Amino acid sequence: MQFETEPSISDKLRRRFLNSKRVLVLTGAGVSAESGVPTFRGGGNSAVWKGMPFEVISSAQVVEQDLPAVWEWFDYRRDLLQVLNPNPAHNEIATWQDRFSEFTLVTQNIDGLHHKAGSREVIELHGSLWRVRCVSCYARFEILSSRPRADACPDCGDPVRPDVVLFGEILPAGAFEQAAAAAANCELCFVIGTSGLVYPAAGLPEIAHVAGAFVCEVNPEKTPLSALCDELLMGRAGEVLPLLSRLGSDSRTTTGRVATRTS
Ligand SMILES: [Zn+2]
Repeated sequence: MQFETEPSISDKLRRRFLNSKRVLVLTGAGVSAESGVPTFRGGGNSAVWKGMPFEVISSAQVVEQDLPAVWEWFDYRRDLLQVLNPNPAHNEIATWQDRFSEFTLVTQNIDGLHHKAGSREVIELHGSLWRVRCVSCYARFEILSSRPRADACPDCGDPVRPDVVLFGEILPAGAFEQAAAAAANCELCFVIGTSGLVYPAAGLPEIAHVAGAFVCEVNPEKTPLSALCDELLMGRAGEVLPLLSRLGSDSRTTTGRVATRTS
């Protein structure tokens, strides 16, 4: 989708962006898609792997029945990621950790691109393609390169599986609670590139809203969360977020409106 004009930024959002200390950002698949990460949702050939629909091969049941098949699928996905890079949205968000004194980044994405962009602390609600977890002792290990990866747990020798939240599984202990506490405490909440359909992540902007935070959505289109947001900046995150950071550096001259591109 092409956006011919940049979205205008309200005075209220501008003031919040320049003055807030406690900021929470929630990112979803839209941010990764701008780097070329396939989402595997919405059908098409990419939604089927070796005859198994995406939801089946990515399920807890198949981990129990056919772990090698699951690994084949996740190794394939990691290989795809190997050549992809963070986009301007990831890069802008990485700068925000030094701009705001209490900054929390929460993502539904499992591709590790926030880390690659330099974000130091990321609450990964759905785990990471770059970690394995022991099926017995739950020890976690980073995968440092696409291949080879360990097949067995260095601690106990039992098999390892992707440290990713699969269909039919619950979120990692503590991750959502930590994100929810930050949402309840923030002054400004950004919801970026999420469909607003996957709970409990979609509940975080609601928590922030109820607690009195200013909630801003950045998305090419409206979502079920748009109604509760104070502001909707329609557009691609990689184009919209740099406008916000520019607001900061232009604070003495801006009138609160970002100039519409004329060329
Ligand atoms: Zn183990």
